[in-house]
Amino acid sequence: MVHLLIAKEMINRNLPIGNHANFYMGSLAPDAVIIRPNSSRADNKISHLRLNYRKEKEIENFDEWTDNALHFFKHYNEQIDYGIICGYVSHILSDIAARKKFEYTKDRAVKLHTEFYELDSRLFQILRNETIIWASLEESSGVDMANLITGHEMNQAIHSLYEQYCYRISNDSFVFKLINLDQINEFIYKEVDNIGKLLFE
Ligand SMILES: [Zn+2]
Repeated sequence: MVHLLIAKEMINRNLPIGNHANFYMGSLAPDAVIIRPNSSRADNKISHLRLNYRKEKEIENFDEWTDNALHFFKHYNEQIDYGIICGYVSHILSDIAARKKFEYTKDRAVKLHTEFYELDSRLFQILRNETIIWASLEESSGVDMANLITGHEMNQAIHSLYEQYCYRISNDSFVFKLINLDQINEFIYKEVDNIGKLLFE
């Protein structure tokens, strides 16, 4: 849901992100590998551009990962639907920023995952009535992304997202220790600035 909120804010700020429906689709697409049968961490690394662009070596630090994402954007932005690629690369840049900000060390990763799961369920309640976002995702159609993920996988994973979240039950007594809603809102606001600068300046 954080990715959808970032996408919504980028649209609100009139950043040149192409077709809005495709932009929303792209902004969720890197995580759509989860739909793949026997989807692995390696699939996730590939879809998140964590291998250098010739896919021969794993990326080791945030700067290199950011450069790889920007390189991908420059190389493919005229070959792949512009809205989808803007969303796709924005997703990756915000994942990098989240890993930096929330310190995904080995011992924090599982706890962070649990907290983000709960937070996501709550953010969905905020986004639930944003009919434009859900209609956009419904209307958009995935495209094959340079051997990272197929258009079919994107469609499969994303078109039913709203229904999937409707089945989630948030736990009102859950206690957040590592993250909170204010931090997330601040993160979204700053990250939109950052992505805007990296992609469009
Ligand atoms: Zn992701």
